[in-house]
Amino acid sequence: MVDVTSYAPRAVATTQISQAAGRLGVDDAIVEKLRHPKRIMEVSIPTKMDDGSVKVFTGYRVQHNMDRGPAKGGIRYHPQVTMDEVIALSMWMTCKCAVVNIPYGGAKGGVICNPKEMSDGEVERMTRRFTSELIDFIGPEKDIPAPDVYTTPQTMAWILDTYSMNVGHLVPGVVTGKPVEIGGSLGRNEATGRGCAIVAREALKTLRIGVDGATVAIQGFGNAGSVTGRVLQSMGAKVIAVSDSRGGVYSPTGLDAAAAEAHKEESGSVVGLKGCSAITNEELLTLDCDVLVPAALENSINTSNAADIRARVIAEAANGPTTPDAQTIIDEKGIFVVPDILANAGGVTVSYFEWVQDSARFFWTEEEVNQRLESIMVNSYKEVLAEAERSNCNMRDAAFNVAVARVSKAVALRGIYP
Ligand code: NAD
Repeated sequence: MVDVTSYAPRAVATTQISQAAGRLGVDDAIVEKLRHPKRIMEVSIPTKMDDGSVKVFTGYRVQHNMDRGPAKGGIRYHPQVTMDEVIALSMWMTCKCAVVNIPYGGAKGGVICNPKEMSDGEVERMTRRFTSELIDFIGPEKDIPAPDVYTTPQTMAWILDTYSMNVGHLVPGVVTGKPVEIGGSLGRNEATGRGCAIVAREALKTLRIGVDGATVAIQGFGNAGSVTGRVLQSMGAKVIAVSDSRGGVYSPTGLDAAAAEAHKEESGSVVGLKGCSAITNEELLTLDCDVLVPAALENSINTSNAADIRARVIAEAANGPTTPDAQTIIDEKGIFVVPDILANAGGVTVSYFEWVQDSARFFWTEEEVNQRLESIMVNSYKEVLAEAERSNCNMRDAAFNVAVARVSKAVALRGIYP
């Protein structure tokens, strides 16, 4: 991706929080607290590899804020993970949980590794050792990991088992996004994409564009991107392009999101999907479409391509996909952005439902989960839109206003200890 070095994500996240606090007139002491993560952990993860050698991976867990509840956030396995990125993602998690008003703080984790080049056994051993290194700092009342890029329900099952074996009994609430057979929630796997599709639909409504026949381009056809495509398609929209790390495919008359998922499942990529022409990730971003869904990594929309973007709505399934300079260009072009901390909050919302079900040992139907998700996403969208109108700002600034107001209030009420 372009621009990654010129936009250190931590600086972006810190600026976003500080600026929102400035707009809201938040007390300096509180802003200063929010600019610093509560706890940053870096651990070595010695792992036995299949060939008998031992490889030492580096892992991070950052807990940004726990004033509104336990820290919450995914764990990412990727060769380009950095501590700076993990800190930024933890700050966005604090804000995301506050935007949708669920009682969590923010955390994030990451391990520098390439799981695509590792066997399942190697990933399992690395995951279990990483969990052991963090064991005193995670738990249902402390910090609750979840899947993120290249981690899966199976990864969560290994974390749950390692934690549970150490404390001596099953603790389902230590992670979310786990398989339903061991306390996962129905609908969790689809929640990020479903939530993103719901707010994209609401944004089209705001712009008076019908979802029926609306054209959609998706960069990053993984968990979040593929479900966003599938759900928007079920609402009547037409997915015209999708991509992954190997490239993209385009069909002006529309492709079938489920067929693209099946093709990726079989071949490892969307590239080569029948009936489509090849397209690069860069070309996809500048397609003429109603909804653009960046669903890969940070900074994909940057100053090198923002001026060429022709979408009416950008619904940010990914975290941090738009650089601040690109946002300025996009604002000038009048493109309506549903920001990450709102657009992809469906995942953490259903993670919260999963944790609630785990603590009650009482499980909901998929319909109940989806109905509650729909209502939280629509209400949160409306609150952010109302704030954007009231403060005459874009949706990103409005979302940060809503989030920082809630977190600051919690910090102020609790006070600075001791
Ligand atoms: P994933 O691993 O399932 O999918 C990531 C996809 O992005 C893969 O298809 C991969 O091939 C593609 N990709 C990677 N590099 C790319 C590049 N340079 N260009 C184009 N595509 C590329 O991960 P995911 O869980 O879907 O996460 C995607 C984004 O959504 C991340 O920013 C993540 O933080 C965010 N997110 C995910 C969740 C969730 O519940 N899974 C929740 C909130 C936010």
